[in-house]
Amino acid sequence: MDLKALIRTIPDYPEPGIQFRDITTLLQDPSGLRRAVDELVQPFAGLSINKVAGIEARGFILGGAVAHQLSVGFIPIRKKGKLPYQTISVEYELEYGTDEVEVHVDCLTPGDRILLVDDLIATGGTALAAIQLVREAGGDVVGASFVIDLPEIGGAARIEAAGVPVRTLMAFEGH
Ligand code: AMP
Repeated sequence: MDLKALIRTIPDYPEPGIQFRDITTLLQDPSGLRRAVDELVQPFAGLSINKVAGIEARGFILGGAVAHQLSVGFIPIRKKGKLPYQTISVEYELEYGTDEVEVHVDCLTPGDRILLVDDLIATGGTALAAIQLVREAGGDVVGASFVIDLPEIGGAARIEAAGVPVRTLMAFEGH
């Protein structure tokens, strides 16, 4: 099955020069969605994962399905100000300015083995911040799964360098 054919590319969105890799066309395809979730889980299936952490917002859709597949719980990693209880937060650099992601302080039990899930890895800045959050909460990030890799930007290599094995299902050239 050609999962890559189910991704829609939108040129110059949200700004000129960006090729937006749209996963909604994959999500709406029944066998494509099932296959993508199976493939995101596959390398980590035997690794005693306790929880899946998904990054807002597309990581919630895929991560929720991955958590169900592994019969484990789910941790939402959200943009600043969205979570109602006490949080831990990590700030990270964007191309222009900074952003911040948060989890609830009690989102996991120290020692929990966490699988991180998002739709796409570009610079890896968001995923690295998420890894730092999970580690600060006391979790062990045993892997990170993404549908799409943009290898020329180098995010997957940065995540591997941080000690987290990376799974990606396809790669696109450029940014
Ligand atoms: P980064 O922190 O640079 O690895 O960016 C990853 C986040 O930005 C993910 O949550 C993606 O959904 C989103 N993103 C970055 N670049 C793209 C792109 N070309 N197409 C779609 N989403 C993107």
